[in-house]
Amino acid sequence: MIKTLTHFIDGAMVDGAGGRFADVFNPATGEVCARAPLASGDEVRGAIASAAAALPAWSALAPAKRAQVMFAFRDLLRAHQDDIAELISAEHGKTVDDARGEVVRGIEVVEFACGVPHLLKGEFSEGVAGNVDTFSVRQPVGVVAGITPFNFPAMVPMWMFPVALACGNTFVLKPSERDPSATLKIVELLNAAGLPKGVLNLVNGDKEAVDTILRDPGVKAVSFVGSTAVGEYIYSEGCAHGKRVQALCGAKNHLVVMPDADMDQTVDALMGAGYGSAGERCMAISIAVAVGEETADTLVGRLADRVRALKVGPASDPETQMGPVVTAQAKARIEDYIQSGVDAGAELVVDGRGLSLQGYENGYFLGGTLFDRVTEDMKIYREEIFGPVLGVVRAQNYEQALHLVNEHEYGNGTAIFTRDGDAARDFVNRVQVGMVGVNVPIPVPVAYHSFGGWKRSLFGDHHMHGMEGVRFYTKLKTTTARWPSGIKDGAQFSFKSGA
Ligand code: NAD
Repeated sequence: MIKTLTHFIDGAMVDGAGGRFADVFNPATGEVCARAPLASGDEVRGAIASAAAALPAWSALAPAKRAQVMFAFRDLLRAHQDDIAELISAEHGKTVDDARGEVVRGIEVVEFACGVPHLLKGEFSEGVAGNVDTFSVRQPVGVVAGITPFNFPAMVPMWMFPVALACGNTFVLKPSERDPSATLKIVELLNAAGLPKGVLNLVNGDKEAVDTILRDPGVKAVSFVGSTAVGEYIYSEGCAHGKRVQALCGAKNHLVVMPDADMDQTVDALMGAGYGSAGERCMAISIAVAVGEETADTLVGRLADRVRALKVGPASDPETQMGPVVTAQAKARIEDYIQSGVDAGAELVVDGRGLSLQGYENGYFLGGTLFDRVTEDMKIYREEIFGPVLGVVRAQNYEQALHLVNEHEYGNGTAIFTRDGDAARDFVNRVQVGMVGVNVPIPVPVAYHSFGGWKRSLFGDHHMHGMEGVRFYTKLKTTTARWPSGIKDGAQFSFKSGA
């Protein structure tokens, strides 16, 4: 039985009325497991209207009352953590353990949003001039929208709406049409936690839904996470329609391996960061920069054995370390990249193509792939592959390694592995990347700090969650007030003499 999914508008599940549907696949078997409705412009405008109607009451509610809904939501998420993880694995393909991890990271943002009364405390300056005080407050932006990618169907939406709602906005969410079931479940849970109807709406859809969001004057701000080509379009189109936009985009994250790095730790780190979630993470490490020939030889030798031993399989097998990629198209694209690396002269140390798993012959599986002697001019170096492909670049010294990271068009995450505090400190100071790890391969900031890249990994000014999220979802208002003296003199009970 193929399940037909719904939208969630005005506090209720709503069947798609647009007549178009997208197939959702189980990537381990290649079978269609659900159909997602693709919203028409009218359906999206209905969701925006619902959010607009809910805005006055929700934004007027005391922040502590909004926080109470977040506390209840957090408890429901904890209770349903495993069901959500199962839904993610079934449509995305990542292991259940990994999926549980992304739910936990999402819950941490909800916990951050529970502190909203404190986060919205303003600033006050007493006596800036005679009888004059100045104070600043942050007020909600209005109806805001979120457009999210397939690779974190629980965590990325939860980077956005908990903070936006806690700040007093109402929300229209358009998740990825490739794996929307987990997102839908989370939205239902928040409504069950006591959220008034219309405060959070979900529309499934594709470009038509996104374009409606970008052009509708009722939407005041748009948060996007996804590929750079789409993000750049969303940023320019959204800004052209007068909206505040933050678009977090693609990546090519480098991990610099210094000659003094702990090799056991480095190889473990690269295995997890390169091949975890089949490389379908915006913070995946796709390039290892080995400093010195000896470092490179040791690293490639040790990585090769580990990559060959990677246990690839369906998420339902508890032994699996790496699941399939998300779609047949993604698999074909990654295979094309591998061929382009071979054609460009990189050394293919481990080839992940041609993997067939018994019982899962139609699944979108690829083995781990490792290239050595990748160079700057190659497509596999310049472009985001978004698959289980790790390339090793050989740098002669630290300065050359740093230069490589800084010259790359993306600047999402990076890391340095070393025992030398001076090298680490210099790297942190000079590297042109938004999130930096020192002996930490995937430096995803905790919820009360903010997530975001530099260069072509982010369009806009604000990162997500933490105080940057609060700033994005609020407008600053500063008041200067003068109160003439005299009122405090109080009642007069006798005529003033000489009056
Ligand atoms: P995608 O750009 O294909 O899709 C993202 C969203 O945009 C989806 O909701 C999709 O429906 C919509 N969309 C797709 N094409 C569109 C179009 N032409 N016009 C309007 N909307 C469109 O991205 P994806 O494949 O789902 O996700 C993978 C990408 O996301 C990778 O590039 C990855 O690096 C990036 N990503 C970035 C971050 C980050 O924080 N920087 C986090 C996660 C993923």
